[in-house]
Amino acid sequence: MNHVMNTYASYPLTLTRGAGSRVFDSDGKVYIDFVGGIAVNTLGHAHPALVKAIADQAGTMLHCSNLYHIPLQIQLANKLCALSGMGAAFFCNSGAEANEAAIKLARKFFYDKKENRFEIITAIQSFHGRTMHTLAATGQEKVKIGFSPLPAGFSHVPYNDLDALNAAITDRTAAIMLEPLQGEGGVNLANAEYLRQVRTICDQHGLLLILDEVQSGIGRTGSMFASEHSGVRPDILTLAKGLGGGVPIGSMLATERVSPAFSPGTHGSTFGGNPLSCRAALTVLETIETESLLLHVQSQSQHMQLRLQSFIEQFDMVQQVRGQGFLLGLAFNVDVAPVITRCRELGLLVLSAGPQVVRMLPALNISQQLIDEGLDILQQAIEDSFS
Ligand SMILES: *Cc1c(COP(=O)(O)O)cnc(C)c1O
Repeated sequence: MNHVMNTYASYPLTLTRGAGSRVFDSDGKVYIDFVGGIAVNTLGHAHPALVKAIADQAGTMLHCSNLYHIPLQIQLANKLCALSGMGAAFFCNSGAEANEAAIKLARKFFYDKKENRFEIITAIQSFHGRTMHTLAATGQEKVKIGFSPLPAGFSHVPYNDLDALNAAITDRTAAIMLEPLQGEGGVNLANAEYLRQVRTICDQHGLLLILDEVQSGIGRTGSMFASEHSGVRPDILTLAKGLGGGVPIGSMLATERVSPAFSPGTHGSTFGGNPLSCRAALTVLETIETESLLLHVQSQSQHMQLRLQSFIEQFDMVQQVRGQGFLLGLAFNVDVAPVITRCRELGLLVLSAGPQVVRMLPALNISQQLIDEGLDILQQAIEDSFS
């Protein structure tokens, strides 16, 4: 008997326990984890510092409501603003909520200026969430089927195409919303020069730039935020997935110029930024620093990419290595479902990004030895799947 609503095509596997970058199933079989709960388990499983912080916070106070000052929330907002150059942070519980808040803030910003701008341009193949507005923002038709009418005010342009973007801007355009590195859409990287030009276009037209770093943020690409690779500062930045290391928390950050468009009563969240989730996020950020995980991601990503490149020579069906840091994709010219299944049988968890890309999102602190063991399995799985 299973009364869970049927929204996920789950793999036939029950994970019961994790330690670092190893997870164990209900039969006690061990797997190397290159999925990390879809870029959520930033520090792997059961990291002692996170376990201790969460347990301690549970014994102190889990929740108290935003009716009262929450010192941990202030600390986290200050930390995120110091890291990102933003002016203020709003807290929620997920990526979709962070993007929903970003869309509301962008509209309110122009409402306050008495400008009738509300449209948001996003990229084809983007993914921004599953609420009605973030679904409308998402540039993939397959996830929208059956949910009409979706909220109006969104249009989509090809990624990395400045001419198309320029052509899509109207006098109703409020913002351009992009992932600096598309995760769900196939592990597609924005060119640094494209992002810099988008910033310039926004400035010329008085538009807001919203960067969705729900998947690419929090050290995932080897810098705290993927936008640092291009040096582009957005007006609004959204985070979630890896921020709490497994404890649900999302954040929408905005510059000092834009954030005042939200005032008491304009937006809120019951759970958002409660003491537990903020304590977890602070511990994740602290541990990234104390364990020098950004440097680790940079060097180990190099290592992974070199080994993945060699698969292109070795296997006809392997086409390309994509991504940055620990958000990597191996693109095939065939369906990758058999590879993912074979990896699982051999003791490695990977996921897809579209039908022809194997995606890898290991914890930021995975060891080189486990990376190598994992890639040995991936190599074997490709061989087994297509011979
Ligand atoms: C996962 C994801 C979201 C949605 O996050 P949820 O927490 O599932 O709502 C939004 N944007 C990007 C880029 C994502 O990868």
